[in-house]
Amino acid sequence: MSASDFDLVVLGAGSGGIAMAIRAARHGARVAILEPGALGGTCVNVGCVPKKAMWLAAELAEMQQIAREVGFSLTPGVLDWNTFIARRQGYIANIHVSYRRRFADLGITLLHERGVFLAPNRIGIGDRELNAAHVLIATGARPQRPAIPGGELGIDSDGFFALRACPKRVAVVGSGYIAIELAGVLRALGAEVTLFARGNRLLRPFDHDLGDTLAQAMRERGIELAFDSRPVAAAKDPDGYALSLANGAAAPGFDELIWAIGRTPNAADMGLERMGIALDTGGHVVTDEWQDTNVPNVHAIGDVTGRIALTPVAIAASRRLADRVFGGQAGAKLDYANIPTVVFSHPPLGTVGLTEEAARERYGDAVKVYRSRFRPMLVALAQHEEKTLMKLVCTGPDERVVGVHLIGAAADEILQGFAVALKLGARKADFDATVAIHPTSAEELVLM
Ligand SMILES: Cc1cc2nc3c(=O)[nH]c(=O)nc-3n(C[C@H](O)[C@H](O)[C@H](O)COP(=O)(O)OP(=O)(O)OC[C@H]3O[C@@H](n4cnc5c(N)ncnc54)[C@H](O)[C@@H]3O)c2cc1C
Repeated sequence: MSASDFDLVVLGAGSGGIAMAIRAARHGARVAILEPGALGGTCVNVGCVPKKAMWLAAELAEMQQIAREVGFSLTPGVLDWNTFIARRQGYIANIHVSYRRRFADLGITLLHERGVFLAPNRIGIGDRELNAAHVLIATGARPQRPAIPGGELGIDSDGFFALRACPKRVAVVGSGYIAIELAGVLRALGAEVTLFARGNRLLRPFDHDLGDTLAQAMRERGIELAFDSRPVAAAKDPDGYALSLANGAAAPGFDELIWAIGRTPNAADMGLERMGIALDTGGHVVTDEWQDTNVPNVHAIGDVTGRIALTPVAIAASRRLADRVFGGQAGAKLDYANIPTVVFSHPPLGTVGLTEEAARERYGDAVKVYRSRFRPMLVALAQHEEKTLMKLVCTGPDERVVGVHLIGAAADEILQGFAVALKLGARKADFDATVAIHPTSAEELVLM
């Protein structure tokens, strides 16, 4: 074996690539991982981690307001972005250090280069080549811009994380979770926010009750929701950014314009087509249930595949792939059913399993839905009206729980355990048989 021969070469040190490299190395594989950017990829640098940090800051801003309303004498303060972002970036720098340490401990070769396929088992980096028994494509995705005049103006989610002060008047374009999260953070930190959605609903793939409840909560926080408002052009003049909408309306006067309209896979200019690696119409690498591409020993994981684009999904799929290829576990693969997910909106929401709409389509009249709408204690103490919504979607005579949908304070933390119950095939009767924890919001799920 020469210095450039590896059992596995991983393209991309994001969530999926790092998980695969570490698990494969633990199984004894000789691993190289290539990353031209920052270690940790999207999640660590311009995704989950800095987003959650900003959400926590936004929550603190909301909590100060509530604290004042319930009797504290404080005056809600304004966030000093520089102080907070220094802490946020310090947290991220620690993650980078810990990855480097783990790579060193496991003998993983880290190369700060972009990889290109020369052959299915040969990766070019600059003027060097690496031979690899297996290659993992884990190159992720990047924010999309619209193909309209002025689509290059403003910023996207990457640009959001480069902001060093809160813009005053902000247009956010999009209705998916990233648009909603950025809009919520900016509003809580003091911006005037308008969200432009192309359709008439937020978070379209989610249970409609969640999207509708969220829309109301966003409006109550002062976010303007412009539905059926697809931009066809953007411009910048002395008063700021202006959008022209497909419905004929004009929306001028924004200090910042944020596009959050989707993500494009990083699958171009890497020699994939030359290798005959199949891509779908959106440019994602096509994989089967084993994370294999159509070319032997070339695998793909994570956002580049267009499967559920979440960090824990990329990590779980990677670990199972490494267990199968290098750990002798022939049947290891990720079950993509019933993956829980949370949106860090204000309030947060969480969902696992089938939406009511999907369940009715699949099971018709066999579906039974339980709902609880209530004011959690802190909301009631603050004399606010906002309701938490909890919803169980059940099917069949034994009322198997096939969907759990939550929006309200702590939904982000409550969901995980209920996702286990759903994965185990829990029935409504199992929920009923579970003694409540009182007084909490979560108890409502076992008291419906
Ligand atoms: C704003 C935002 C918020 C998010 N919030 C959450 C959240 O709260 N929870 C959650 O679960 N998910 C969240 N996500 C999604 C999550 O970040 C992604 O699903 C996850 O990072 C995907 O991991 P990945 O390994 O597929 O790709 P990435 O993490 O994107 O990593 C891919 C890496 O490959 C590198 N690369 C590209 N081309 C090459 C090449 N040719 N050679 C070598 N390397 C290359 C890139 O530089 C990059 O570092 C969020 C995403 C965004 C944008």
